[in-house]
Amino acid sequence: MQVPLEKQLSEVLLKLQGYSVDSIEEVEYKGRKQIQVSIKSSLPLCCPICKTELPIYDTRTRYIYHASILGRAIVLNLKRRRVNCPRCGVKTEKQTIAENKKRHSKHLECCVLEHTVKLDNKSTANLLGLSPSTVYRIDKAGLIKLEEKLMENTPKMEHISIDEVAHKKYHHYATVLTNQEDSKVIDIYPGKSKESALALFKKYSDKLTWLETVAMDFSHSYISATKDYFAEHYIVFDRFHLSQYVNRCLEKVRREIQRDMPDDIRYIIKKHTRWLILRREHNMTQWHIDRLEQLKHDNEQLFEAYLIKEDLLSIFDKDVDRYAAKIMLTNWCNMASKSPYQAYRTLAKSIRNKIHILLNWFVKHITNAKAEAVNNIIKTLIRRAYGYKDFDYFRLKVLQRCGYLMKGLTHYN
Ligand SMILES: [Zn+2]
Repeated sequence: MQVPLEKQLSEVLLKLQGYSVDSIEEVEYKGRKQIQVSIKSSLPLCCPICKTELPIYDTRTRYIYHASILGRAIVLNLKRRRVNCPRCGVKTEKQTIAENKKRHSKHLECCVLEHTVKLDNKSTANLLGLSPSTVYRIDKAGLIKLEEKLMENTPKMEHISIDEVAHKKYHHYATVLTNQEDSKVIDIYPGKSKESALALFKKYSDKLTWLETVAMDFSHSYISATKDYFAEHYIVFDRFHLSQYVNRCLEKVRREIQRDMPDDIRYIIKKHTRWLILRREHNMTQWHIDRLEQLKHDNEQLFEAYLIKEDLLSIFDKDVDRYAAKIMLTNWCNMASKSPYQAYRTLAKSIRNKIHILLNWFVKHITNAKAEAVNNIIKTLIRRAYGYKDFDYFRLKVLQRCGYLMKGLTHYN
């Protein structure tokens, strides 16, 4: 049997079961082209409360944003029939397209949520033929609704990492908790203090019962929070931040050395060596090795500073146990504390202070490279939206983009 066109339009094109299309027309509304589709229920009419079949009393019209085609929004012009039931009074028939009093359908909500994962609100608005403020409204309301299932979607975790991210100008920071296994953001909390970290640990305490490691940088507040809430042996400093920290020391040393040079030599040395000495030995090409040979000849002090850095970082590449590593690190500290450069002496001191935590690395090899990728995604997100004024919305956006908020949600279902 041939299915009538009205039914094909509503059921296949608009994914509306139990409705038929009366008319379709293009109209202009607030400078935007829209397609208005008049639809009505094709089911027999009955009282929504007592289910008695009754004749039609009158109709009410309701506009619902539903989808988009070629950049134009499809607005449903839904005719809702009313009945005059002798027992219950005048009642309007039920509809399943949109939630209670919302002006958009459930389908559109899923559409918006899927598009705003990768697009900014303005592009989503253009694509769906809506205004940016409508997209914002639907997006935020949808995300708040999804948040109810966040705890349920979050798995139990063994390896997590904690880091800070600047989410707004003028030093506004937030603490980000990341799952190391699938590099997804668990949650975000405003501030980068000990209290922020403790609040996150408390909130997810049920999910952290099997916890083994917490990767972090050298932040005092996170170290102290982890010590208080779990124990010191959970802390692992990640390689990325360690190299960053050591490289910063090397930069200071380089500046110290170059300060005392005559101007003409300083210029030549600076041009060649700044990035050369920061490079790890195993990442060097023949060109770099030749340059390094040259440096050894030109400036022995800088070459030595480079070797001291390599000595330290190469300890963390070795597959040794805690005790062997402790000896190596202590030896390095002894050597560096005699160094003529202030930056290395300070580094040696701080390594001595944190040596018991640093040694955890040799028991549990954890890299934070994935968490850094997450940080980049967050930064892109902020840049794309030109910053967020509303912290709650920002948090939801991060959880939507790289958290557990969107788990299992797709409007193609
Ligand atoms: Zn009734």
